[in-house]
Amino acid sequence: MEIRITGLKKYYKSEGNVIKALDDVNLVIPSNRIFTLLGPSGCGKTTLLRSIVGLEAPDEGEIQIGDTVVWSSSKNIFVPTEKRALGMVFQTYAIWPHMNVFNNIAYPLQNQKRPKDEIESRVREVLKFVQLEGFEKRPATRLSGGQQQRVALARALVAKPKVILFDEPLSNLDAKLREETRKELRSFLTELEITAVYVTHDRVEALALSDNIGVMRSGKIIEIGEPKKIYFHPEHQFVADFIGRSNLIPASIQCIEGGYSTVTTDIGKFVCSDTGIKAGSSAVLCIRPEFVEVASAEEPRPVNAVEGVVHSMVFIGEVYESEIKVNDRLVMVKLPADTKLSSGDPVTFHVKPEHCLLVSE
Ligand code: ADP
Ligand code: MG
Repeated sequence: MEIRITGLKKYYKSEGNVIKALDDVNLVIPSNRIFTLLGPSGCGKTTLLRSIVGLEAPDEGEIQIGDTVVWSSSKNIFVPTEKRALGMVFQTYAIWPHMNVFNNIAYPLQNQKRPKDEIESRVREVLKFVQLEGFEKRPATRLSGGQQQRVALARALVAKPKVILFDEPLSNLDAKLREETRKELRSFLTELEITAVYVTHDRVEALALSDNIGVMRSGKIIEIGEPKKIYFHPEHQFVADFIGRSNLIPASIQCIEGGYSTVTTDIGKFVCSDTGIKAGSSAVLCIRPEFVEVASAEEPRPVNAVEGVVHSMVFIGEVYESEIKVNDRLVMVKLPADTKLSSGDPVTFHVKPEHCLLVSE
């Protein structure tokens, strides 16, 4: 089911200040896909999710789920949470410790007073789906973090919602388990005909899990796109910076010719893919460390070549994360684990024009 959000605003008053938790959010969340709201802590993700669910009443705007308007300030509509037919998974799973797995999952159906045999068969079905068959009688407290997460998912799915919402559901798991659960969740969700709205501040999680990502900042959606679009072709400096490590270098655009923009920066001239920013204006040159190629001396001097000195090297396993000093600027690069370079060595690096991205400030 598609979710349409129009002109949504939610302001909080705190110690005499007004906090714009949602500052005119307009958004269409496509049907039967995984849509992630990604942004730093405090940008309004939870407020937006809670507004969709009906746990929060916004100040202005409209929310439509499928064909039903569930919230409208101008039409004075407020459909309560339990009538919105949504499933929700929270950060702190909200698994009840005094109940066993079966009763935790059956709760939404028991609440709706559904027939006993329907509850039984439906719980078995979702338990099978989340691969917890045989766990019915296990006390919820005797489950691992990953299993609790799956119980929470099963409970959110048991009433067959058309939309499921997640608020940072993996943030309490350790790194390895988080990675596994992420993969598992993606395969569970893509198997279902369901619209998933997922909230996280973790960029890798967003990239790995989503069909589409909406990047939020200060109560606004800044940019929406598929993971690769957001990663490789962000339009805003904030997005480029938030979605991955990047060198962000102030640039001014000199000329545009044949699909390329030539820019000047404090580390030299660069030929970049033309992203439609006009000649004469200023922009930010965004270069991801993984696209900086440290050239060997024999090669002919490639386009966008820069000379510098190795400033720092940190070995992180697969590669060295290194900084190259050019004039007064440090450029982050990745060097192969078996590099012969060490700090203080002079180097030349280059970046292909298609990897020199211009974004707005
Ligand atoms: P996120 O989930 O992205 O971390 P939230 O939606 O929780 O952000 O919060 C957005 C902003 O609104 C933050 O500045 C937060 O402090 C503020 N806020 C959230 N809930 C309340 C509340 N009940 N009262 C006052 N301020 C709130
Ligand atoms: Mg939150």
